Amino acid sequence: MTDADCLFCKIVAGEIPNDTVTETEDVLAFRDISPKVPVHVLVVPKQHSTHAGELAGSEPELLAQVMRVGAEVARSEGVAESGYRFVFNCGGDSGQEVFHTHLHVLGGRPLSMAV
Ligand code: AMP
Repeated sequence: MTDADCLFCKIVAGEIPNDTVTETEDVLAFRDISPKVPVHVLVVPKQHSTHAGELAGSEPELLAQVMRVGAEVARSEGVAESGYRFVFNCGGDSGQEVFHTHLHVLGGRPLSMAV
């Protein structure tokens, strides 16, 4: 299932270029176009869903795959030992801007708890 108006569906479809980090049959990881920290990778399920809270209810195995790939990205980006953060923004008040489930993998320097 895809959403014709969804930015990340277009990236998954190859209609918009991306800087791919890794890919599986069901998941794509690519560098954030505007990195907030030295390591900032987005991991998205190829199938459209609005956010991780929705996917947790509909396809928890797919959400687990997203997190497994996120952990692999942390290792391949060299931040698994130093530490990193997983962020899922879910809905407007969270600051979510792209309404296609995505995991932010953030690291490469100490992070504060500021929200
Ligand atoms: P969120 O605020 O959680 O919805 O995060 C959306 C993220 O997508 C932001 O960090 C943006 O910088 C990032 N982003 C937007 N457009 C692109 C793009 N074309 N390629 C890669 N990352 C993007």
